[in-house]
Amino acid sequence: MWSLSSRPLILALLLCSLAANGAGRPRVLTLPLQVRVARCGGKPVRREAWVKEHLEAARRVLAPQGIRLAATRDSFRPARCVLLDRAQRHALAEHVDPARVTVLVVERARDLELTSYDLMGVHWRYRGDDSRYQGRRWVILTARARPPVLAHELAHYLGLPHDPAGGNLMTPGPSAPIWRGSGAKPKPFAPLLTDAQGERLRAAVRRLLKGAAAAGAPLRGRPR
Ligand SMILES: [Zn+2]
Repeated sequence: MWSLSSRPLILALLLCSLAANGAGRPRVLTLPLQVRVARCGGKPVRREAWVKEHLEAARRVLAPQGIRLAATRDSFRPARCVLLDRAQRHALAEHVDPARVTVLVVERARDLELTSYDLMGVHWRYRGDDSRYQGRRWVILTARARPPVLAHELAHYLGLPHDPAGGNLMTPGPSAPIWRGSGAKPKPFAPLLTDAQGERLRAAVRRLLKGAAAAGAPLRGRPR
């Protein structure tokens, strides 16, 4: 029988053990992120509070899937503040740290197909000629982005495609052709992930962390 005095200790041990194994949930995976804000006209295109708000919104979507973002923040000076074509996006490669998931916050990025539209974000792969930058990819987040966009683009970075049925984080963006065609339209965007999407994201984060460790260059980042 437990004495009265041992009960608090047993309860404490039980709570510790629940906390350690996440109350039955899988282990939390930490994804290191580097958020770099472009400096244009002598100042960052967005303030720290804006970046924080976007990070928090992304965390709210990813946390239920057991994915935590450990973000570091700094600024960079791009050659151009407004990105109008592919080459100008590729030119950002020099600002990407290949050892981290990099998010570059820029002033403006025009949609390549629908040129009357400015993007809120895009997952971009380097396809230029410079051998130093081959294999680099990153997230571009623009100053006009609304908070859930960062989570959407990070999910693309981790391999999730659009969901043509919609109703979740991967509903195609406003400039996607599906909105212009005459066919069925996706359900409205919602900042949540299906179980299958969450599982794919976790597997991708695991692969990313394992690959970086195997390459002898663990993804760097400190919790924020
Ligand atoms: Zn998308």
